[in-house]
Amino acid sequence: TSFGFRTVPEDEKEYLVKNVFDSVASKYDLMNDASSLGVHRLWKDSFVSGLRPGRRGPLRCIDVAGGTGDIALRILDYAREHYADRETTVEVVDINDQMLKEGFRRFKKTMYHNTPQISFHEANAQELPSEKFADNSYDLYTIAFGIRNCTSIPAVLREAHRVLKPGGTFACLEFSKVNNPLLSLAYDQYSFTMIPLLGTILAGDRASYQYLVESIRKFPPQPEFANMIREAGFSTGERHGWSVYNVKPISLQTL
Ligand code: SAM
Repeated sequence: TSFGFRTVPEDEKEYLVKNVFDSVASKYDLMNDASSLGVHRLWKDSFVSGLRPGRRGPLRCIDVAGGTGDIALRILDYAREHYADRETTVEVVDINDQMLKEGFRRFKKTMYHNTPQISFHEANAQELPSEKFADNSYDLYTIAFGIRNCTSIPAVLREAHRVLKPGGTFACLEFSKVNNPLLSLAYDQYSFTMIPLLGTILAGDRASYQYLVESIRKFPPQPEFANMIREAGFSTGERHGWSVYNVKPISLQTL
């Protein structure tokens, strides 16, 4: 694992990831808009509308590495706007309390504040405490732009499988490899120069954004990631459904 320009051991990674998000929490939403030119909003909209939460009745959802609650808010809005569902619940889980605090502050301005529909919990995706996150308890597990920051992807997937009900859905939104060579070159130029530069200007933190760019680069290619999901016990069969949304800089594709 590398952080900035030096190589760090895996056990240091968690601590560094926590620091990265501590330093950017208050600017996180602004940085997302600036670095993706607002496109992250479209990816997130498309991700949630593809899941159609609320269609078959209220869901119990867990949004892991949920940060400031972008996915949670979209799930609740979608269920309410399309199915008049005010019973779906989302538990936002993140390792970083600063991100959760930003999320809490943001939800204060919504109709979900102070309702059982939303709650925030500090925990590590790789070892969700089983007293709080029991086996077979969620209908939908989402993780958006979060799994690449975790030290062990198999551990995250194992926990996802454990907490999901039989037949529950695992849905992951993540950056991955760009297959078109021209696009890939353009994206490399952009991500290596522009994103750390924006990080310096907007969040005063170049190293954090350099790290984020590198974590995207190190993420396993789509077929390898799909295999990891299968190995964790997911299938398209009866017990568990899974869907992988594979995000490229300009298009969204389903594996
Ligand atoms: N899901 C949100 C979104 O799409 O806007 C936030 C994504 S943000 C890029 C990644 C989040 O993952 C951060 O809030 C970070 O604190 C969290 N994170 C990193 N490692 C984690 C871990 N091991 N367990 C839980 N959350 C983690």
